[in-house]
Amino acid sequence: MSNLDQYTIYVPSDQKMRLLGASLAHSLYRPRLTIDLVGDLGAGKTTFVQGLAHGLRIETPVTSPTFALEERHDDRLCHIDLCRLNKEASEQLLRHSDDFPGIRVIEWANRSTAHDADLRITIDDVGNDARRITIECRDVAIPTDQEIHALWDEVALPQHIRNHITQVSLVTEKVCKDLLRQCRAVRPRAVRAAALLHDLLRFVDFRSMQGDEYFIPDARTTAVWQKMKEQFGTPHEPAAARLLTEQGFPDIARIVSTHRGKSEDDLMHTTIEQQVLAYADKRVDLDKIVSLDERFHSLIDRHQKNASDPKELAWQESMRLLERNLLPDGLDL
Ligand code: ADP
Ligand code: MG
Repeated sequence: MSNLDQYTIYVPSDQKMRLLGASLAHSLYRPRLTIDLVGDLGAGKTTFVQGLAHGLRIETPVTSPTFALEERHDDRLCHIDLCRLNKEASEQLLRHSDDFPGIRVIEWANRSTAHDADLRITIDDVGNDARRITIECRDVAIPTDQEIHALWDEVALPQHIRNHITQVSLVTEKVCKDLLRQCRAVRPRAVRAAALLHDLLRFVDFRSMQGDEYFIPDARTTAVWQKMKEQFGTPHEPAAARLLTEQGFPDIARIVSTHRGKSEDDLMHTTIEQQVLAYADKRVDLDKIVSLDERFHSLIDRHQKNASDPKELAWQESMRLLERNLLPDGLDL
Protein backbone atom coordinates (compact mmCIF):
# COMPACT_ATOMS: atom_id res chain seq x y z
CA MET A 1 0.00 0.00 0.00
CA SER A 2 1.16 3.51 -0.70
CA ASN A 3 -0.59 6.76 0.02
CA LEU A 4 1.04 9.26 -2.28
CA ASP A 5 -0.91 10.51 -5.29
CA GLN A 6 0.93 13.45 -6.82
CA TYR A 7 0.16 15.51 -9.91
CA THR A 8 1.19 18.77 -11.53
CA ILE A 9 -1.01 21.37 -13.22
CA TYR A 10 -0.04 24.42 -15.25
CA VAL A 11 -2.43 27.25 -14.42
CA PRO A 12 -2.29 30.13 -16.93
CA SER A 13 -4.49 32.72 -15.14
CA ASP A 14 -6.07 33.66 -11.81
CA GLN A 15 -9.44 32.64 -13.25
CA LYS A 16 -8.14 29.11 -13.90
CA MET A 17 -6.65 29.10 -10.39
CA ARG A 18 -10.16 29.63 -8.99
CA LEU A 19 -11.45 26.86 -11.23
CA LEU A 20 -8.75 24.53 -9.92
CA GLY A 21 -9.61 25.43 -6.31
CA ALA A 22 -13.32 24.83 -6.97
CA SER A 23 -12.63 21.51 -8.68
CA LEU A 24 -10.70 20.24 -5.66
CA ALA A 25 -13.99 20.20 -3.73
CA HIS A 26 -14.96 17.20 -5.93
CA SER A 27 -11.79 15.28 -5.19
CA LEU A 28 -12.03 15.10 -1.40
CA TYR A 29 -12.71 11.92 0.55
CA ARG A 30 -13.12 13.16 4.15
CA PRO A 31 -15.30 15.92 5.56
CA ARG A 32 -12.41 16.73 7.87
CA LEU A 33 -8.90 17.34 6.58
CA THR A 34 -5.93 19.67 6.49
CA ILE A 35 -4.63 21.21 3.27
CA ASP A 36 -1.20 22.90 3.25
CA LEU A 37 -0.57 25.74 0.81
CA VAL A 38 3.02 26.67 0.05
CA GLY A 39 4.15 29.50 -2.23
CA ASP A 40 5.64 32.99 -2.14
CA LEU A 41 3.74 36.21 -1.58
CA GLY A 42 1.42 36.75 -4.55
CA ALA A 43 1.74 33.13 -5.71
CA GLY A 44 -2.04 32.73 -5.68
CA LYS A 45 -2.72 30.87 -2.43
CA THR A 46 -5.66 33.03 -1.40
CA THR A 47 -7.00 32.96 -4.96
CA PHE A 48 -6.94 29.16 -4.77
CA VAL A 49 -8.82 29.19 -1.44
CA GLN A 50 -11.48 31.49 -2.95
CA GLY A 51 -12.07 28.88 -5.65
CA LEU A 52 -12.18 26.07 -3.11
CA ALA A 53 -14.75 27.94 -1.00
CA HIS A 54 -16.86 28.43 -4.12
CA GLY A 55 -16.63 24.69 -4.86
CA LEU A 56 -17.74 23.96 -1.30
CA ARG A 57 -20.73 26.30 -1.84
CA ILE A 58 -19.56 28.69 0.87
CA GLU A 59 -21.19 32.09 0.32
CA THR A 60 -19.21 34.29 2.72
CA PRO A 61 -16.28 36.04 1.01
CA VAL A 62 -12.78 34.63 1.42
CA THR A 63 -10.18 37.36 1.96
CA SER A 64 -6.58 37.34 3.08
CA PRO A 65 -6.95 36.83 6.83
CA THR A 66 -4.49 39.69 7.44
CA PHE A 67 -5.72 40.98 10.77
CA ALA A 68 -7.46 37.88 12.00
CA LEU A 69 -4.81 35.15 11.30
CA GLU A 70 -7.66 32.73 11.02
CA GLU A 71 -11.09 32.99 9.40
CA ARG A 72 -13.82 30.39 9.84
CA HIS A 73 -16.68 29.94 7.42
CA ASP A 74 -19.07 28.09 9.72
CA ASP A 75 -17.92 24.53 10.42
CA ARG A 76 -16.90 23.80 6.87
CA LEU A 77 -13.81 25.87 6.13
CA CYS A 78 -11.11 27.22 8.41
CA HIS A 79 -8.73 29.51 6.48
CA ILE A 80 -5.42 30.22 8.19
CA ASP A 81 -2.52 32.43 7.11
CA LEU A 82 0.81 32.00 8.92
CA CYS A 83 2.51 34.74 6.85
CA ARG A 84 3.32 37.06 9.73
CA LEU A 85 4.05 34.42 12.37
CA ASN A 86 7.26 32.68 13.32
CA LYS A 87 7.52 28.93 13.78
CA GLU A 88 6.57 28.91 17.44
CA ALA A 89 3.57 31.25 17.05
CA SER A 90 2.44 29.32 13.94
CA GLU A 91 2.42 26.03 15.77
CA GLN A 92 0.59 27.56 18.70
CA LEU A 93 -2.08 29.05 16.43
CA LEU A 94 -2.59 25.75 14.60
CA ARG A 95 -3.25 23.89 17.83
CA HIS A 96 -6.46 25.94 18.25
CA SER A 97 -7.95 24.40 15.14
CA ASP A 98 -6.65 20.84 15.57
CA ASP A 99 -10.16 19.60 16.20
CA PHE A 100 -11.87 21.70 13.50
CA PRO A 101 -14.58 19.45 12.00
CA GLY A 102 -14.30 20.68 8.40
CA ILE A 103 -11.57 21.58 5.95
CA ARG A 104 -8.61 23.47 7.36
CA VAL A 105 -6.49 25.24 4.75
CA ILE A 106 -3.20 26.78 5.77
CA GLU A 107 -1.33 29.46 3.78
CA TRP A 108 2.42 29.54 4.48
CA ALA A 109 2.04 26.06 5.95
CA ASN A 110 5.84 25.60 5.78
CA ARG A 111 6.12 27.95 8.78
CA SER A 112 5.05 25.01 10.97
CA THR A 113 6.60 21.56 11.07
CA ALA A 114 4.40 20.30 13.90
CA HIS A 115 1.21 19.46 12.01
CA ASP A 116 0.23 16.71 9.56
CA ALA A 117 -1.38 17.61 6.24
CA ASP A 118 -3.61 15.36 4.15
CA LEU A 119 -2.93 17.39 1.02
CA ARG A 120 0.01 19.65 0.24
CA ILE A 121 -0.26 22.16 -2.57
CA THR A 122 2.87 23.93 -3.81
CA ILE A 123 2.57 26.93 -6.11
CA ASP A 124 5.48 28.18 -8.24
CA ASP A 125 5.31 31.39 -10.26
CA VAL A 126 6.65 30.50 -13.71
CA GLY A 127 6.13 33.93 -15.29
CA ASN A 128 3.47 35.55 -17.51
CA ASP A 129 0.77 35.02 -14.89
CA ALA A 130 1.30 31.26 -15.14
CA ARG A 131 1.75 29.04 -12.11
CA ARG A 132 2.96 25.48 -11.75
CA ILE A 133 0.95 23.69 -9.07
CA THR A 134 1.98 20.43 -7.49
CA ILE A 135 -0.68 18.63 -5.49
CA GLU A 136 0.39 15.84 -3.18
CA CYS A 137 -2.44 13.78 -1.66
CA ARG A 138 -1.64 11.48 1.26
CA ASP A 139 -5.11 10.78 2.62
CA VAL A 140 -6.17 7.87 0.40
CA ALA A 141 -4.70 4.38 0.71
CA ILE A 142 -3.90 3.04 -2.76
CA PRO A 143 -2.93 -0.58 -3.54
CA THR A 144 0.33 -1.10 -5.43
CA ASP A 145 0.31 -2.92 -8.80
CA GLN A 146 1.68 -5.96 -7.01
CA GLU A 147 -1.24 -5.93 -4.56
CA ILE A 148 -3.70 -5.44 -7.42
CA HIS A 149 -2.33 -8.45 -9.31
CA ALA A 150 -2.39 -10.53 -6.13
CA LEU A 151 -6.10 -9.71 -5.75
CA TRP A 152 -6.78 -10.67 -9.38
CA ASP A 153 -5.11 -14.04 -8.73
CA GLU A 154 -6.84 -14.54 -5.40
CA VAL A 155 -10.31 -14.29 -6.96
CA ALA A 156 -9.29 -16.27 -10.08
CA LEU A 157 -10.18 -13.34 -12.31
CA PRO A 158 -10.50 -14.56 -15.92
CA GLN A 159 -8.20 -13.18 -18.60
CA HIS A 160 -10.90 -11.42 -20.62
CA ILE A 161 -11.89 -9.34 -17.57
CA ARG A 162 -8.24 -8.53 -16.87
CA ASN A 163 -8.02 -7.30 -20.46
CA HIS A 164 -11.17 -5.21 -20.05
CA ILE A 165 -10.09 -3.50 -16.84
CA THR A 166 -6.59 -2.86 -18.19
CA GLN A 167 -8.12 -1.13 -21.21
CA VAL A 168 -10.45 0.90 -18.92
CA SER A 169 -7.44 1.98 -16.86
CA LEU A 170 -5.76 3.27 -20.04
CA VAL A 171 -8.87 5.32 -20.84
CA THR A 172 -8.94 6.76 -17.31
CA GLU A 173 -5.29 7.80 -17.72
CA LYS A 174 -6.15 9.78 -20.85
CA VAL A 175 -9.25 11.36 -19.29
CA CYS A 176 -7.25 12.36 -16.18
CA LYS A 177 -4.56 13.90 -18.36
CA ASP A 178 -7.20 15.98 -20.13
CA LEU A 179 -8.79 17.07 -16.83
CA LEU A 180 -5.38 18.27 -15.61
CA ARG A 181 -4.95 20.15 -18.90
CA GLN A 182 -8.34 21.80 -18.14
CA CYS A 183 -6.93 22.83 -14.71
CA ARG A 184 -9.25 20.44 -12.87
CA ALA A 185 -8.06 18.42 -9.89
CA VAL A 186 -8.18 14.63 -10.18
CA ARG A 187 -6.16 11.89 -8.52
CA PRO A 188 -4.59 9.82 -11.30
CA ARG A 189 -3.21 6.97 -9.18
CA ALA A 190 -6.44 6.48 -7.24
CA VAL A 191 -8.48 6.36 -10.47
CA ARG A 192 -6.05 3.95 -12.08
CA ALA A 193 -6.13 1.56 -9.12
CA ALA A 194 -9.93 1.72 -9.00
CA ALA A 195 -10.10 1.04 -12.75
CA LEU A 196 -7.85 -2.01 -12.35
CA LEU A 197 -10.14 -3.32 -9.60
CA HIS A 198 -13.63 -2.23 -10.67
CA ASP A 199 -14.67 -5.63 -12.08
CA LEU A 200 -12.74 -7.67 -9.51
CA LEU A 201 -15.91 -9.60 -8.62
CA ARG A 202 -17.70 -9.23 -11.97
CA PHE A 203 -18.34 -13.00 -12.02
CA VAL A 204 -20.81 -12.84 -9.10
CA ASP A 205 -23.27 -11.44 -11.68
CA PHE A 206 -22.55 -14.03 -14.40
CA ARG A 207 -25.74 -15.81 -15.43
CA SER A 208 -23.96 -19.11 -14.91
CA MET A 209 -20.72 -19.90 -13.14
CA GLN A 210 -20.27 -22.81 -15.55
CA GLY A 211 -19.01 -20.43 -18.22
CA ASP A 212 -20.14 -18.65 -21.36
CA GLU A 213 -18.88 -17.84 -24.85
CA TYR A 214 -15.97 -15.86 -23.37
CA PHE A 215 -14.59 -18.19 -20.73
CA ILE A 216 -15.12 -21.68 -19.29
CA PRO A 217 -13.88 -21.86 -15.69
CA ASP A 218 -12.27 -24.99 -14.29
CA ALA A 219 -13.54 -26.58 -11.06
CA ARG A 220 -11.14 -24.68 -8.82
CA THR A 221 -12.16 -21.36 -10.36
CA THR A 222 -15.86 -22.09 -9.92
CA ALA A 223 -15.22 -22.98 -6.27
CA VAL A 224 -13.34 -19.69 -5.67
CA TRP A 225 -16.13 -17.71 -7.38
CA GLN A 226 -18.84 -19.44 -5.32
CA LYS A 227 -16.96 -18.65 -2.13
CA MET A 228 -16.57 -14.97 -3.12
CA LYS A 229 -20.25 -14.73 -4.00
CA GLU A 230 -21.23 -16.16 -0.61
CA GLN A 231 -18.86 -13.84 1.20
CA PHE A 232 -19.47 -10.56 -0.66
CA GLY A 233 -22.90 -11.00 -2.24
CA THR A 234 -24.21 -9.37 -5.42
CA PRO A 235 -24.30 -7.20 -7.49
CA HIS A 236 -20.63 -6.97 -8.36
CA GLU A 237 -20.14 -3.24 -7.62
CA PRO A 238 -21.02 -3.22 -3.89
CA ALA A 239 -19.49 -6.70 -3.61
CA ALA A 240 -16.10 -5.41 -4.82
CA ALA A 241 -16.48 -2.35 -2.59
CA ARG A 242 -16.96 -4.61 0.45
CA LEU A 243 -13.89 -6.67 -0.42
CA LEU A 244 -11.73 -3.58 -0.99
CA THR A 245 -12.90 -1.96 2.25
CA GLU A 246 -12.00 -5.16 4.08
CA GLN A 247 -8.55 -5.02 2.45
CA GLY A 248 -7.98 -1.48 3.81
CA PHE A 249 -8.92 0.54 0.71
CA PRO A 250 -12.25 2.22 1.60
CA ASP A 251 -11.82 5.18 -0.77
CA ILE A 252 -10.86 3.02 -3.74
CA ALA A 253 -13.96 0.98 -2.78
CA ARG A 254 -16.05 4.12 -3.00
CA ILE A 255 -14.76 4.93 -6.50
CA VAL A 256 -15.45 1.35 -7.60
CA SER A 257 -18.93 1.21 -6.04
CA THR A 258 -20.54 3.64 -8.52
CA HIS A 259 -18.87 2.50 -11.75
CA ARG A 260 -22.14 1.45 -13.33
CA GLY A 261 -23.29 5.08 -13.07
CA LYS A 262 -26.92 4.44 -12.25
CA SER A 263 -28.64 7.78 -12.65
CA GLU A 264 -27.76 11.34 -13.52
CA ASP A 265 -28.20 12.55 -9.95
CA ASP A 266 -26.01 9.83 -8.59
CA LEU A 267 -23.04 10.76 -10.71
CA MET A 268 -23.31 14.53 -10.49
CA HIS A 269 -23.00 14.24 -6.72
CA THR A 270 -20.04 11.92 -6.73
CA THR A 271 -16.33 12.70 -6.76
CA ILE A 272 -14.50 13.40 -10.01
CA GLU A 273 -12.68 10.06 -9.65
CA GLN A 274 -16.03 8.23 -9.49
CA GLN A 275 -17.19 10.10 -12.59
CA VAL A 276 -14.02 9.31 -14.55
CA LEU A 277 -14.26 5.59 -13.82
CA ALA A 278 -17.98 5.34 -14.65
CA TYR A 279 -17.35 7.16 -17.93
CA ALA A 280 -14.19 5.25 -18.93
CA ASP A 281 -15.99 1.95 -18.34
CA LYS A 282 -18.62 3.04 -20.89
CA ARG A 283 -15.90 3.64 -23.49
CA VAL A 284 -14.60 0.07 -23.42
CA ASP A 285 -16.52 -2.84 -24.91
CA LEU A 286 -14.78 -6.06 -23.80
CA ASP A 287 -11.22 -4.89 -24.51
CA LYS A 288 -11.92 -2.48 -27.35
CA ILE A 289 -12.18 1.32 -27.04
CA VAL A 290 -15.50 2.42 -28.55
CA SER A 291 -17.79 5.46 -28.57
CA LEU A 292 -20.65 5.75 -26.05
CA ASP A 293 -23.18 4.92 -28.77
CA GLU A 294 -21.30 1.80 -29.85
CA ARG A 295 -21.17 0.66 -26.26
CA PHE A 296 -24.91 1.27 -25.74
CA HIS A 297 -25.75 -0.80 -28.84
CA SER A 298 -23.51 -3.59 -27.73
CA LEU A 299 -25.07 -3.65 -24.22
CA ILE A 300 -28.56 -3.81 -25.71
CA ASP A 301 -27.55 -6.67 -28.03
CA ARG A 302 -25.72 -8.67 -25.42
CA HIS A 303 -28.37 -8.39 -22.71
CA GLN A 304 -31.32 -8.40 -25.13
CA LYS A 305 -32.64 -5.16 -23.68
CA ASN A 306 -35.47 -3.07 -25.11
CA ALA A 307 -33.73 -0.26 -27.02
CA SER A 308 -36.61 2.19 -26.49
CA ASP A 309 -37.08 1.58 -22.76
CA PRO A 310 -37.34 5.12 -21.23
CA LYS A 311 -35.16 4.10 -18.29
CA GLU A 312 -32.47 2.85 -20.62
CA LEU A 313 -32.65 6.04 -22.69
CA ALA A 314 -32.46 8.25 -19.59
CA TRP A 315 -29.38 6.35 -18.45
CA GLN A 316 -27.74 6.77 -21.86
CA GLU A 317 -28.48 10.50 -21.76
CA SER A 318 -26.92 10.80 -18.30
CA MET A 319 -23.75 9.19 -19.69
CA ARG A 320 -23.65 11.68 -22.56
CA LEU A 321 -24.04 14.50 -20.05
CA LEU A 322 -21.18 13.05 -18.04
CA GLU A 323 -19.05 13.00 -21.20
CA ARG A 324 -19.79 16.66 -21.93
CA ASN A 325 -18.94 17.59 -18.35
CA LEU A 326 -15.68 15.68 -18.24
CA LEU A 327 -14.50 16.42 -21.77
CA PRO A 328 -16.09 19.70 -22.91
CA ASP A 329 -13.54 20.00 -25.74
CA GLY A 330 -13.88 16.36 -26.79
CA LEU A 331 -11.01 13.87 -26.69
CA ASP A 332 -9.70 11.35 -29.22
CA LEU A 333 -8.94 8.15 -27.35
P1 ADP B 1 -1.03 34.75 -2.07
O1 ADP B 1 -2.19 34.43 -1.21
O2 ADP B 1 -0.26 33.54 -2.48
O3 ADP B 1 -0.13 35.78 -1.49
P2 ADP B 1 -3.02 35.98 -3.78
O4 ADP B 1 -3.92 34.91 -4.24
O5 ADP B 1 -3.50 36.86 -2.69
O6 ADP B 1 -1.58 35.34 -3.45
O7 ADP B 1 -2.63 36.91 -5.00
C1 ADP B 1 -2.25 36.44 -6.25
C2 ADP B 1 -2.28 37.60 -7.23
O8 ADP B 1 -1.74 37.18 -8.49
C3 ADP B 1 -3.70 38.04 -7.49
O9 ADP B 1 -3.71 39.44 -7.70
C4 ADP B 1 -4.05 37.31 -8.79
O10 ADP B 1 -5.03 38.01 -9.53
C5 ADP B 1 -2.71 37.33 -9.50
N1 ADP B 1 -2.52 36.20 -10.44
C6 ADP B 1 -2.09 36.33 -11.70
N2 ADP B 1 -2.00 35.14 -12.30
C7 ADP B 1 -2.38 34.23 -11.41
C8 ADP B 1 -2.49 32.81 -11.47
N3 ADP B 1 -2.19 32.08 -12.54
N4 ADP B 1 -2.93 32.19 -10.35
C9 ADP B 1 -3.23 32.89 -9.24
N5 ADP B 1 -3.14 34.22 -9.13
C10 ADP B 1 -2.71 34.91 -10.21
MG1 MG C 1 -2.69 34.95 0.73
